[in-house]
Amino acid sequence: MNRSLPHRLLMRMPMKWLFFILKNFHRFIPNSQDNTSLKVMNLYSKLVIDNTYKAFCSPNKVIWTTIFLPSEILYAFNLIPFSMELASGMLGEIGFTQNALEKSDSLCDSTDFCTFHRASLGHVANGMLPKPIGIISYNYICNNNVQTPKKCAAVVNKPLLHLDVPLENDNEAIPFLASGIRNFVKDLENLTKSKLNPEKLREVVINAEKTRKIILKINDLRKVEFAPSIVTEALNFFVIRNIFTGSQEGVVFFQKLYEELLEITEKIRKLRISNKDKSKIIWLEYKPCYKSEFFNLFMDKDHEIVFEEMNYIEWPELNPEEPFESLAKKIISCHYNQTGEKRLSIIEKLTDDYKADAVVSFSNWGCRRNNLLIPTIKKRLNDKGISFLNIDSDSLDPTVYMHGQIKTRIEAFMEQLVH
Ligand code: SF4
Repeated sequence: MNRSLPHRLLMRMPMKWLFFILKNFHRFIPNSQDNTSLKVMNLYSKLVIDNTYKAFCSPNKVIWTTIFLPSEILYAFNLIPFSMELASGMLGEIGFTQNALEKSDSLCDSTDFCTFHRASLGHVANGMLPKPIGIISYNYICNNNVQTPKKCAAVVNKPLLHLDVPLENDNEAIPFLASGIRNFVKDLENLTKSKLNPEKLREVVINAEKTRKIILKINDLRKVEFAPSIVTEALNFFVIRNIFTGSQEGVVFFQKLYEELLEITEKIRKLRISNKDKSKIIWLEYKPCYKSEFFNLFMDKDHEIVFEEMNYIEWPELNPEEPFESLAKKIISCHYNQTGEKRLSIIEKLTDDYKADAVVSFSNWGCRRNNLLIPTIKKRLNDKGISFLNIDSDSLDPTVYMHGQIKTRIEAFMEQLVH
């Protein structure tokens, strides 16, 4: 991929300096958020960059995680959760993926696992991430969340902490996981040589509950016919939800997002620009984390992506008086972690809730969690009269992204939706 001279210079800098520059000048550096129409995305960039810079400046506070691990317990210890896959996504946006993939492939016998994890391992081995005090693994959502932390812990020679998450969401699972979280807290106490402050835990659970309520309001607002189309930005909300839920920053981000969406929706309502007659699409999985024209292919007057599966939340109300049980319920209720049947029922629910005619999946190469279920999703939706398109590509590796082929398939799919 051709990069401008400023980009090439940035890529040669030590990471701490790079994030210092991004922190102070990110508005002047082009990235894949350029086309955003939401003002709150400036806050998004600021939060992600500031948090990364803080991590580079606080070596005794950083703990590496993988995606989906709730951050609340880590915030209760005043730690800085640093998701390796989210870092891979962010570094991918500024052009660092290829070096990381080459490094990872030189270290592993197997190279057929997903690029988020291959890049994570490569970045770790290349010394691109802030130094951690420990690394967390957990058998949750995807098997790589066990394998990658184990490999990374060996590379940097740091302690590995593990959280065991049951697959089934049943009566025995909640007490089992709540007790697992208590043991996890003991491991964190040993690692940080500090005691968990119950008041701090209470505060983060209260923040997480405020965030949950605001996200539910946002998701409801997006059901109305005058809601704006925001898919390119909306796939990033998931990043904030992962890193910042439990922090005051998370509450502020989602509140500002809600207020801005409400204001835009009211403006669209006054102009009577309804999406009622458009073909509505539900989005599965993620997106390219590199410059591409991908989402432009969906921007026309006849179609609209109305919601993303990743932004669906299902965890029940969090009770600060029962923090461990509440967090156990939150973790275990994530539909990605449960059976394929559960995920199918959620996708069907989303098509009903958002009155969708079609579902599109941007399926990341090497993702067994998603890709194995694709034929079943297609059949179930088609039986229900809902069109389905699977786009096999890669979120991080631009060399796998074939724009011409993808464009042809999307255009044919969109055309049959109109008729
Ligand atoms: S894309 Fe799939 S394999 Fe990769 S991190 Fe996500 S769930 Fe795991």
